[in-house]
Amino acid sequence: MKFTVVGYWHGYPEAGEASSGYLLEKDGFRLLIDCGSGVVSHLQKYCPLDQLDALIVSHYHHDHFSDIGVLQYARLVHNAWKGEEKKLIAYGHLHNKEKYNLLSYEPHVTAIPYNPAKVLNVGPFSISFLQTKHPEPCFAMKITDGNTTIVYTADTSYFQELHQFALDSDLLIAECTFYEHQDPTAAGHMNSRDVGILAKNANAKQLLLTHLPHFGDHNELTKQVMSYYDGQTELAKTGWTFEK
Ligand SMILES: [Zn+2]
Ligand SMILES: [Zn+2]
Repeated sequence: MKFTVVGYWHGYPEAGEASSGYLLEKDGFRLLIDCGSGVVSHLQKYCPLDQLDALIVSHYHHDHFSDIGVLQYARLVHNAWKGEEKKLIAYGHLHNKEKYNLLSYEPHVTAIPYNPAKVLNVGPFSISFLQTKHPEPCFAMKITDGNTTIVYTADTSYFQELHQFALDSDLLIAECTFYEHQDPTAAGHMNSRDVGILAKNANAKQLLLTHLPHFGDHNELTKQVMSYYDGQTELAKTGWTFEK
């Protein structure tokens, strides 16, 4: 499978960039994970919009969800222009029904709820979920194609069950919204120390820091994480890829 960072900013995108969005591809199937501000613009560098098969959202905060409306318009415009009926499937949880309903834009985009207690099969991917500690109901995802396993923490403060959920992942994509000296718990996020301990205890083979803050030097995040975890650690960047 091939994983590409489309956007990685916490809260809002910096100039010319995007907030949370990640593309996962295998055997011609294309799944977008989260759809924050700027994602539709940047996604086109990696995937024609009409070739996207499915979207799954971790939660309904704007930095993970705000581009849903223009993604729907993109499919409408394509279908109208080409005279086609290419449907996009959008998966979301039902813990906020009002926001979930915004995923649907028939006949172009069909919303399907995921049950976090069950494994969801999407194209070649099997996805399992763990509810995180965050002000809005949010789900971490463990995604496998049978060979490779990627774990995405989505937005969360640190809690023990994440270790087991992320155990032995080939790639752990962890939100790292705060520096070590800051207490991120009230905001429902992790700092670099939390992420380092998580990656170490999960025995992650590789770590990607994402959902990055708008202040400070991101290289400090990496250094702080690496004082707890000695695996390969990188900062998310637009277009960063992992393939295995
Ligand atoms: Zn959030
Ligand atoms: Zn967020």
